[in-house]
Amino acid sequence: MTTRPLRVALQNVGCKLNFYELEAFKAGFARQGYQVVPFEAKADLYVVNTCTVTGSGDADSRKAVRRARRANPDATVVATGCYAQRQPEELRQAGAHLVVGNGDKARLVEQVEAHLQGAQLREFDPLERPRTTHFLSIEGLVEQGRTRGSLQIQDGCDEHCTYCIIPQVRGPSASRPAGEVVAQARSMVAAGYRELALTGVHTGSYGCEQDQPDSLVRLLADLEEVEGLERLRLNSIEPGYLSDELIAHAAASQKLCRHFHVPLQSGDDLILRRMNRRYTRADYAGRIEELARLIPDSAIGADVMVGFPGEEEEHFANTRALIEDLPLTYLHVFPYSLRSGTPAQKLGAHLDEGTKNNRAHQLIALGRRKRLDFNRRFVDRQLEVLVEERPDPASGLSAGLSDNYIKALFPGRADQVNHFVRVRVTQARDSLVYGELD
Ligand code: SF4
Repeated sequence: MTTRPLRVALQNVGCKLNFYELEAFKAGFARQGYQVVPFEAKADLYVVNTCTVTGSGDADSRKAVRRARRANPDATVVATGCYAQRQPEELRQAGAHLVVGNGDKARLVEQVEAHLQGAQLREFDPLERPRTTHFLSIEGLVEQGRTRGSLQIQDGCDEHCTYCIIPQVRGPSASRPAGEVVAQARSMVAAGYRELALTGVHTGSYGCEQDQPDSLVRLLADLEEVEGLERLRLNSIEPGYLSDELIAHAAASQKLCRHFHVPLQSGDDLILRRMNRRYTRADYAGRIEELARLIPDSAIGADVMVGFPGEEEEHFANTRALIEDLPLTYLHVFPYSLRSGTPAQKLGAHLDEGTKNNRAHQLIALGRRKRLDFNRRFVDRQLEVLVEERPDPASGLSAGLSDNYIKALFPGRADQVNHFVRVRVTQARDSLVYGELD
């Protein structure tokens, strides 16, 4: 009699790095003979990769654990990730049978198997900072023929911004060995990926803990040599790490996307100091202007936090004015969310939710305006886009992404999926453009 393989369903909460890790878990379970099924399906095992960057990350993580328990009350539910590292007990109360800390994540599949066989696993101490010594790798992709993928190059952070819990739950900065990154890129390209986005907690600091700040540029050059890899995208880079060398390399590169995400957080020097961000508004402006000057038509995005403790109307006005003036093309806006255990918790002058939301709405509207202005620049021009697997659900049109981060919808064909096509832009909206094949 043949026994049916165990079914595993996995759910991600949070950032692109969590997404990469989830892909690696999927590949790991598939290698062990598990059948990977959607999270909504009835499975024998559920895994939730949790997030704790904000209070809503915590809530979404607990919700996912509860949803898994409801989907199959007899299944085993496993929680891992940043919220699991910080508050394992809260996830156990939500229904998780096994909680795996970030320090043990690279061995998650092994740990789950041991748990299923009844082994008593060592409990981690949530007060201890984990340290990444091994990186999860994606060997044997579960879904072949994908278009764009994430590739982890780094973990952890040494910056200690006063609002941020990440250095405590992900540990100190650790860079993945270049040989391992390049080997991973080759196997992802062989599985069909045409574009890879480099991810990490603080990707710009790649190599810095080994006193080799030029490592990132060397890694980019090595990856650009990988045959069949057409595009490389940098997910996010802190302004202090956007060096002249990196900008010069990007300007000369044929493969690095004209897309830079440079967190700003605040455009006011006093607030930046209170956040322990190590740059001034002038430093930030200088970097963004240099990028826009040397790499024209780049998408340049920023994270902005509103309502940090002590942010008065004049500080917020400085942030808004700086964003208005700079050639930023989109924004990710977050209201400050208090994380217990961070230095910002002890700062006075916490703002009420109404003020934070009002400021967030103002910047979201400003971000939309900037994005629309950017997209309008391309009307009657050509964009080269990589065609995605799924058409746009609302219109049924083909969807593709340009190297400078513009989503284009156009009447295309199924055989163009995972290929580059040229689209002439006919109309611009704030979130995307419409076009015709050229
Ligand atoms: S750079 Fe600052 S905000 Fe980013 S992960 Fe590190 S401590 Fe957090």
